[in-house]
Amino acid sequence: MQKIIVAVDGYSGCGKSTTAKAVANALHYTYIDTGAMYRAVTLYFHDHYIELNHKREVQRALDDINISFVYNEKLSRPETYLNGNNVEEEIRKMYISNNVSQVSALPEVRYALVAQQQKMGKRGGVVMDGRDIGTKVFPDAELKIFVTADINIRAQRRQQELLGKNQLVPFDEIVENLKMRDYIDSSRAESPLLKAVEAFELDTSYLSIDEQVEYVIHLATDKMLHKHRENSLLD
Ligand code: C5P
Repeated sequence: MQKIIVAVDGYSGCGKSTTAKAVANALHYTYIDTGAMYRAVTLYFHDHYIELNHKREVQRALDDINISFVYNEKLSRPETYLNGNNVEEEIRKMYISNNVSQVSALPEVRYALVAQQQKMGKRGGVVMDGRDIGTKVFPDAELKIFVTADINIRAQRRQQELLGKNQLVPFDEIVENLKMRDYIDSSRAESPLLKAVEAFELDTSYLSIDEQVEYVIHLATDKMLHKHRENSLLD
């Protein structure tokens, strides 16, 4: 079967990564969590006291950053590495969530990460989730999904997820963080969060994870068949 690119974009905490990860596993595709890359850069900037309005400092820091994903067989999921260290747990903490949108609005950061994401996905066979995958990273992706959900449901899910990692964060703080990130992500000048015209909208508010995954797999299978037919006609 022909390999395609599945671009999954949308607001914070809508279940994008849960869905994207499960779809990638089912299709035997590579899952790429681009949010984790922006989070890793945020962690590096935090640890090295990088001034966000100091362009040269930002660029120098970016030159020193190496982000990779290593598949953890036991957990059946890729984990994020920053300069050789496993940062998967650290980058999910609230102090990173509270600063990541400011960092990811910087054009220098976006140029560096978008270029790396394009390299990672160029052969197809990837499910990539983020904010600008269908609009900027892979505008020609065969399948684009735009995920939304009710803000209270998103916050409840995020709170549960954090509790599962022993992080007790007040509900209101989570709502504020989600709203703040949606606002900054949607209003930044460089590749803002937008629904691509041809994207399928997926509202996960009242769907189970299985239902979300099934919906995307169904669309992906259609797109793969379509690509297969197109290529057969060209042969
Ligand atoms: O997906 P996640 O919530 O982990 O993303 C964290 C943040 O990274 C987002 O709020 C956004 O600011 C940034 N991001 C981005 N572009 C992407 C993926 C994430 O700007 N493609």
